[in-house]
Amino acid sequence: MASEPIIATVGGEGPLLVIHGGAGRRLHEMSPAQRAETDAALGRALAAGYELLAAGESAEAAVIAAIHVMEDAPCFNCGRGAALTLDGTAELDACLMLGDGRTGAACGLTTARHPIDVARAVMERTPHVLFSEPAPELLDEWGIEQVENDYFVTLARAAALEEWKALHAIGADRPETRHGTVGAVARDARGRIAAGTSTGGITGQVPGRVGDSPLCGAGTYANETSVAVSCTGTGETFIRDVAAHQVHARVALGGQTPGEAASAMLAGIDAHGGNGGVIVVPASGAGVIGRTDGAQMNWGWASAAGRETHE
Ligand code: ASP
Repeated sequence: MASEPIIATVGGEGPLLVIHGGAGRRLHEMSPAQRAETDAALGRALAAGYELLAAGESAEAAVIAAIHVMEDAPCFNCGRGAALTLDGTAELDACLMLGDGRTGAACGLTTARHPIDVARAVMERTPHVLFSEPAPELLDEWGIEQVENDYFVTLARAAALEEWKALHAIGADRPETRHGTVGAVARDARGRIAAGTSTGGITGQVPGRVGDSPLCGAGTYANETSVAVSCTGTGETFIRDVAAHQVHARVALGGQTPGEAASAMLAGIDAHGGNGGVIVVPASGAGVIGRTDGAQMNWGWASAAGRETHE
């Protein structure tokens, strides 16, 4: 039986940054030290992004700065600390979209330290929207910092993969334990909005599998007439529901508030067997943080009205 999504509105007018550190974490299974580490990393990501907004920088710059911090923090499923494929490797995906319609994304990255930088390079340096496994030479040409794939692999993620394999072998699964992802949505002093999402996908995914995060309209979307959106959760359901664009369409065409739109989208995810969360920043007004009842999500927001993190 589906239950109501949990929705909160945050911040007010003016510059606003909302971030998520992924849905589906097992808070009750995390040690106090792990929870403190996650909360501290969320705080650093918020500080890095909001500092730029407060200085009059763009929503795009704030989104990228916040995501950089989370890509470097091993407690999140993106960059270093990403969920591992069945082969024990990291395959990273990211998408960036601005309210004016410009967007770039990449999937299957194995060497880019900051996948969100690749998304921005696709947007800025090519006439295309999405690259799959861009060659290291191309990443070099784009000025992307590259590392060995081992850099992304942490002991905790290797253990999570073994745990999942053991469960899978006996026909059991706990899908909510497999995913994570980070995202940021922002509005700057000029009212421009942007959305970004960066992920390692889901633990034990078959190499080559791609989720919703790098897909414009599924996991990430921004439109200056309505909202900027970043999703996290069971990617396949978010793709089928075209979740991020759905939130935009409900606001722009359906006349719903961002909170109503996020709630309706998440209710659909739940009804279709998925779980997860979403963050939304509209072109004007308060931001929204939402999750399905079955998911946990860590998040943070910052505006002139205050600042808060929630691990
Ligand atoms: N949505 C991501 C994916 O399916 C995972 C997540 O957000 O947890 O790749």
